[in-house]
Amino acid sequence: MRVVILGGGPGGYEAALVAAELGAEVTIVNDEGLGGACVLWDCVPSKTLLTSAQAFSTLETAPGLGVHFEGTTRSDEVPRYEVDLPTIQKRVRDLAQAQSDDIVKRVVDAGARFLLGTGRIADPHAVEVQLAEGGTERLEGDAILVSTGSDPRKLPTAPTDGEVVLSSQDVYDLEEVPERLVVVGAGATGAEYATAFLRFGAEVTFVCSRDRVLPTQDEDAALVIEEVFRRRGLTTVKNAKAAKVERTAAGAVVHLEDGRTVEGSHVLLTVGQVPQTRGVGLEEVGVALDDKGGVVVDGVSRTTVPSVYAAGDITGKLMLASVAAMQGRIAMWHLLGQAVAPLRWDAVAATIFTDPQIATVGLSEQRAAKAGIEVEIESLPLAGNSRAKMANLHDGFVKLLARPGSGTIVGGAVVAGYASDLIASFSVAAFNRLTAHQLTQPFQIYPSFAGSIQECARRLAIRVQGNYKY
Ligand SMILES: Cc1cc2nc3c(=O)[nH]c(=O)nc-3n(C[C@H](O)[C@H](O)[C@H](O)COP(=O)(O)OP(=O)(O)OC[C@H]3O[C@@H](n4cnc5c(N)ncnc54)[C@H](O)[C@@H]3O)c2cc1C
Repeated sequence: MRVVILGGGPGGYEAALVAAELGAEVTIVNDEGLGGACVLWDCVPSKTLLTSAQAFSTLETAPGLGVHFEGTTRSDEVPRYEVDLPTIQKRVRDLAQAQSDDIVKRVVDAGARFLLGTGRIADPHAVEVQLAEGGTERLEGDAILVSTGSDPRKLPTAPTDGEVVLSSQDVYDLEEVPERLVVVGAGATGAEYATAFLRFGAEVTFVCSRDRVLPTQDEDAALVIEEVFRRRGLTTVKNAKAAKVERTAAGAVVHLEDGRTVEGSHVLLTVGQVPQTRGVGLEEVGVALDDKGGVVVDGVSRTTVPSVYAAGDITGKLMLASVAAMQGRIAMWHLLGQAVAPLRWDAVAATIFTDPQIATVGLSEQRAAKAGIEVEIESLPLAGNSRAKMANLHDGFVKLLARPGSGTIVGGAVVAGYASDLIASFSVAAFNRLTAHQLTQPFQIYPSFAGSIQECARRLAIRVQGNYKY
């Protein structure tokens, strides 16, 4: 079986690995290094930047733990620090490139062919490639997987210029920390960049179109982040829809729809992503797009054309690297005759890498209420956890949602320093439809943050499933 993959982000390269392992003849085409926008511009760079920001959290807590730095004597005194943005940016770029190179090696070692170039579907069984080194190549395939990702949403009234009015990808060209940064768009990307630049010493204003930050997230979690932002000096402007952004002598000004204005030395636009279908040739061969411009797919990533599959942000669903990778793998398992189940949208896990992080899986309290799904909820503040006390951490909680009667876990949230890792056991539980009681049985480390997960499950199990003899 010959498979042509157009787009080399997680949707594409994970599919290439699966298809090659299953014996297919695979060619993957990308217009930049493998890993795609995820590795080179978005996910990996932003998390690397945030890791530098995280260092300041460690510095901040150190005096309270009895570790003093030169010039600090009081336990509440934060040591003086300096941010070397060029060094941070170089580290971000080098790490992203190294990660991309590693992926190329993995994919090629698995037996797939990687072509650097821009591709377009010519017919349901062929892709025409404009090669980066010059010339063209036509690739014939029994099937095509399209995974060309997404691009930052642009507002016609707020053109980015890469210097003062920035898109998320322009951040990595900054040579100095902006003095006064206005972040427009209160979703995950905006909250993450606000977290980083606040730590780097910028005066940050967060412009949110609704009445709170992270409006689609678990409300309790969003409120923790709002409070942390407030304590660290971030200004939030709520119920504020940006109408236009203009350059000024001192930087830029954001005009809000209600007439208010917000000024800064720089403006960062984080107002979402749009599926990248431009020039891919999808509609010409009959692949249907939905009203938001995403490729219509079913649970096993088939489009409306039998030989064409699609995975990742181009499908306009949950725009996450992990979802893209899973859609890509499922497409190849389906194509190559493996037993495969449709993607489980009810068990997707995600993290927002603020400080503390917010990690969630499955159903949220708000979505359950909106959909009229009955759930039992247990929540436990992190402040009572012995490990959190040792680390002098106070913000955060764990929350677990289960169905009444059975106690089957349908969702969870963790707000903590390493929530992205702590969510793993909730994710396994929600995916495998374990009960709260089953989640109490495996050993957890003492003392650990994960202990709170077990304790939360124990309280929920007692309430929902009755008092087992623990
Ligand atoms: C700032 C930011 C931070 C993020 N952080 C996270 C995170 O922490 N965790 C997470 O899970 N998700 C995160 N995401 C989302 C994640 O990056 C995407 O969901 C993921 O990149 C989608 O993967 P993909 O395979 O669909 O496409 P992409 O990673 O976008 O890759 C697609 C590739 O196809 C190429 N391409 C496009 N058209 C063509 C063509 N015609 N021919 C050849 N190549 C083409 C593109 O240039 C690109 O290299 C973040 C997104 C942003 C914007």
